[in-house]
Amino acid sequence: MIPYGKQAISQQDIDSVIEVLKSDFLTQGPQVPLFENKIKSATQASYAVAVNSATSALHLACLSLGLSKGDVLWTTPISFVATANCALYCGADIDFVDIDPISYNLSAAELEKKLIYVKQHNLPLPKIVIPVHLCGQPCDMEKIHELSKTYGFSIIEDASHAIGGKYKNKPIGNCEYSDITVFSFHPVKIITTGEGGIATTNNLKLANKMALLRSHGVTREDELMTEPSHGAWYYQQIELGFNYRMTEMQAALGVSQLTRLAEFVDDRNRLAKYYDDKLSNLPIILPKQIKDSYSAYHLYIIKLKLTDIKLSHIQVFDALCIKHIGVNLHYIPIHLQPYYQRIGFKSGQFPMAEEYYEQAISIPIFHQMSNEQQDTVIQAIEDILR
Ligand SMILES: *Cc1c(COP(=O)(O)O)cnc(C)c1O
Repeated sequence: MIPYGKQAISQQDIDSVIEVLKSDFLTQGPQVPLFENKIKSATQASYAVAVNSATSALHLACLSLGLSKGDVLWTTPISFVATANCALYCGADIDFVDIDPISYNLSAAELEKKLIYVKQHNLPLPKIVIPVHLCGQPCDMEKIHELSKTYGFSIIEDASHAIGGKYKNKPIGNCEYSDITVFSFHPVKIITTGEGGIATTNNLKLANKMALLRSHGVTREDELMTEPSHGAWYYQQIELGFNYRMTEMQAALGVSQLTRLAEFVDDRNRLAKYYDDKLSNLPIILPKQIKDSYSAYHLYIIKLKLTDIKLSHIQVFDALCIKHIGVNLHYIPIHLQPYYQRIGFKSGQFPMAEEYYEQAISIPIFHQMSNEQQDTVIQAIEDILR
């Protein structure tokens, strides 16, 4: 089986984790701040707060922006469920904005339409909008940012797929067009820490709030305490926080993986280019790159031109599985999930997302995928579609 994604662990990665295991700190030592500093350099953001998953980072990002009951958060239906769940963790309501048919990202045009509509009808405007850089391809951040100024919402970029990518020649995560950017380091993502995530921001208050909530809302800093210290042991809980901390082993792995970030992303772009060339004559729609962007190519998604193919979507998917091609589907529209249907969403509400779902297949792409493996995938697709 050729997997759809796979981590690339080097001897240097292994050695750096072992070193931590032999050291004094397995948690709350020097590796996490070191990793945060390296992420700051890589993204050019002012602050970075490392946590145990991107899901936790999304939760803390929402809390630090004050999301609570009575508020509404908007995101795209084509993402992992965590992007929407973070609103519900905060007691807020969730709604979706349909996707752009070319990039499959949250459509800035649909966002504008929906904002105009809710404003005209005196419905609640979103407090936060979360664009997701699907596959690593950046959303139209300039336009979304412009809309945020007119309509007064905050922006969290879900860049779980996008570390190492660029938007308008600047690294994704620099937060030029957002309040906070979130990255995931799950093993299928561009770089990994096993489980792990990070939030970047240029706002010191947001960074401090996320750092506080990551560790129980507990502080030892005198200036944050509400009364004089009782002694050297003293700490105060000043907010209701969580234990969302990243371990030292994870951070050390992250530091080591980051040294190869450019190599990983360049390699993924090379693999994508090879697919682009070899798959161009088949009845499928290949991923299109928007201008001024450099995708991290976390995923390579093809869309079937079903009217030109004898088989159905599921038949093509199953045929690829039978040929040991590790295909996947990113994603089932979130509003179609049983949980989301239970809270009131209906099929038909986001037609572009639903149409996309009926055609999309993610084919294997990972660092050091061999030419042979890529040719096997290409041959399998050709055999099935011809
Ligand atoms: C992977 C992923 C997440 C969740 O990341 P975890 O680190 O597994 O919590 C959130 N959003 C998107 C778009 C993802 O791909």
